[in-house]
Amino acid sequence: MMGRISEIFESIQGEGILVGVRQLFIRFCGCNLNCYYCDTVKESEFCIDHVSGKTLKNPVSSEYVQNRIDSAKVHSVSFTGGEPLLQAEFIRFLNKNKPFYLESNMTLPDKAKKLRFVDFVAGDLKIREAGLSDYETLLENTFKSFKILRNTRMRKTFCKIVLPSEFKEEEVLNSSYRIKDYVECFVLQPVFGSKLENIFKLQKKMNEFADTRIIPQVHKLLGVR
Ligand code: SF4
Repeated sequence: MMGRISEIFESIQGEGILVGVRQLFIRFCGCNLNCYYCDTVKESEFCIDHVSGKTLKNPVSSEYVQNRIDSAKVHSVSFTGGEPLLQAEFIRFLNKNKPFYLESNMTLPDKAKKLRFVDFVAGDLKIREAGLSDYETLLENTFKSFKILRNTRMRKTFCKIVLPSEFKEEEVLNSSYRIKDYVECFVLQPVFGSKLENIFKLQKKMNEFADTRIIPQVHKLLGVR
């Protein structure tokens, strides 16, 4: 099995409820969305493995990635992107000998069905202000994906909402309400440099129906990858 991967590296998880744990990151190429704040390279001819110092031509074999997973001394393996669900078949092919952590935009429910075995899901709820096309369909697919990869005794799922200073509070509340039964908690993540006033107000209202935390991206605060 082959996968398109832009880089492999070890670092700390910089977002959400596992912030600070050491992970092996497998960053896949490609994404089905185009958020205005996206800062990831989505296509790459080469995969840079920062752990071994090697540069490989894409696509990369599952055997290579499995070796990296087997030898990593980490809390968990983070599949990130881009959008890792686009390469769900590749992830499913790997041997899960340590916890698997999926970071996803949660807009591909048919692919989500293939990864029910993961241990952690950091799933996005994209807000309208992200400027994505066909937003109503995207939202319905998000609700379906959270239902498929819902929080269980075996799998910890939380919902991350990236927020600028201004957003439609009512719409975020309504969408969150439809997700609340599928997640352990919500994480409101301010776009770097945003004012927090409206985000604090939203947290107060969301706390009436779900545990809602404000957690910034610590990578940017620490100046690390
Ligand atoms: S879903 Fe993630 S990777 Fe895709 S465009 Fe948005 S921020 Fe970038």
